[in-house]
This record gives sequence, structure tokens and C-alpha cells, in this order.
Amino acid sequence: MRYLNIKIIASVMLVAMFLTSCDNTTNTEVEHVFEKGQLAPDDFFTGNVYVTGLIDNDSIFTTAGGEVYFEAGSRSNWHSHPAGQILIVTAGVGYHQIKGEPIEVIHKGDVVKCPPDVDHWHGASKDASMSHIYIVPNTEKGIVEWKEPVTDEQYTGIN
Ligand code: MN
Repeated sequence: MRYLNIKIIASVMLVAMFLTSCDNTTNTEVEHVFEKGQLAPDDFFTGNVYVTGLIDNDSIFTTAGGEVYFEAGSRSNWHSHPAGQILIVTAGVGYHQIKGEPIEVIHKGDVVKCPPDVDHWHGASKDASMSHIYIVPNTEKGIVEWKEPVTDEQYTGIN
């Protein structure tokens, strides 16, 4: 009887050890899939913004894409895309605004379509950073036309 108990206890311990060895995901939450990238020129952005190229434009796909990481408070200038742009928010909380419309708060997992030739900007929120993937289709029509910076008043125009 004593021998049987030891066998049972040993078996339970082995199972527990096995389960523990498999449970290696508990404290390893991944926040960013891609590297942070290169600091973007301040000609087109306010604050620290980092860009990682992911989709090289070519004659077959005529599509450009990458990920942009905006530190809290940073944002793009006003700009437009001749063929539009798709944003996929990969981390954090940010803002997106089409000229003449209210600022839209965007969160990780949101997908935003910017129509062709519409002035808009995108960036982080005041208090949290934001990363998004951008996809620019039909690049034979052009990729981006940069305009003036988003002023602090425009940026804080959120209600
Ligand atoms: Mn854009």
C-alpha cells in the first residue's frame, strides 16, 4: 500500500513538472512583431516617429507598406495619398483625422481606410504610443503628398 502511494505521488509530480515545463508563455507577452525601425525625418512628422519598411514597392504588386511607431504626442503632417491608404493598428492608442471631420480615436486591431486624395493625418494619442501598419496600393498613381504640420491646437482638438 505504501509503495502504491509513492507511485501515485511520483506520477502526480511528473505530470505537474510536465505541465510546468509546457507553460512557458505566461510572462512573455509580445508587444511588437516588427523592429522599431528608423527615426523618420522631422520634415514630415512632429515628435519621434520610427518607420520600418515591410513591403518594397515593385511593378508586379504596385504596393508599398511598412509599420510606423509613434511615441505619445507624435504625429504625421497633413498629407494625402493619390490612391488612398489602409492602416492596421498593431499596438497602443492613436488618432486619425480627415480634414473637416472630428478626430477619430484608433486602437490596436482597428483597420482604417483613407480615401484617395483626402487630406488627413495619423499619429499617437496624447498619453499613449501607437503603432500601425500602412499599405499604399496602386503606387503607379503616387504614394504620398506631404503638407503642413498638424498644429498643437489641431492635435488637441479632441473632445
Ligand atoms: Mn496617410
